[in-house]
Amino acid sequence: MPDTDPNLSPAVSARRILAAARFAAEKHVAQKRKGKFGEPYVNHLLEVAELIAGSSDSLDTNLIVAALLHDTVEDTATTSLELQEKFGEDVASLVAEVTDDKSLPKATRKALQIRNAPHKSARAATIKLADKISNLRAILASPPADWSLERQQEYFEWARRVVEGLPAANAILKAEFDRTYARFGELGTRGSK
Ligand code: ZN
Repeated sequence: MPDTDPNLSPAVSARRILAAARFAAEKHVAQKRKGKFGEPYVNHLLEVAELIAGSSDSLDTNLIVAALLHDTVEDTATTSLELQEKFGEDVASLVAEVTDDKSLPKATRKALQIRNAPHKSARAATIKLADKISNLRAILASPPADWSLERQQEYFEWARRVVEGLPAANAILKAEFDRTYARFGELGTRGSK
């Protein structure tokens, strides 16, 4: 399995990325984003993958494939074995690195994300960073209807603590995270008017 082969032809790369996009779209078909507009969940996956593709001049096909699949094991009936069989060991292990244990209470999972952030591989850290950017953008654009400004603020603070713990963060994505994080201040001003 040529998992991290830098010599993949562009045609093979495109095929793998599109196969992952379609797989993810099918797996998440019944799921919507939490925002008040209820956007299709696949929008989030495409955004995370696009952020990663745009943050480097060298193409890491498996990283983009894993970005598209990053929520499949956590949020759908997909198993790690299924990812391994369809997309290879490298992709499956990247997804496993960014998958929370859903058997734990939510507060524990959130605390673990902060505690485990420093132990992530650089590629898993890139997915986590792009994921947090996408989630903050979603809250800015379309917050969940039942989230108070305080709850939104808490989410921003939590995301910042996870991101600050990540090793060797991708500089372009880190800068985009910082810009997105800073926009919450403007939202706060708007909310208090
Ligand atoms: Zn996600």
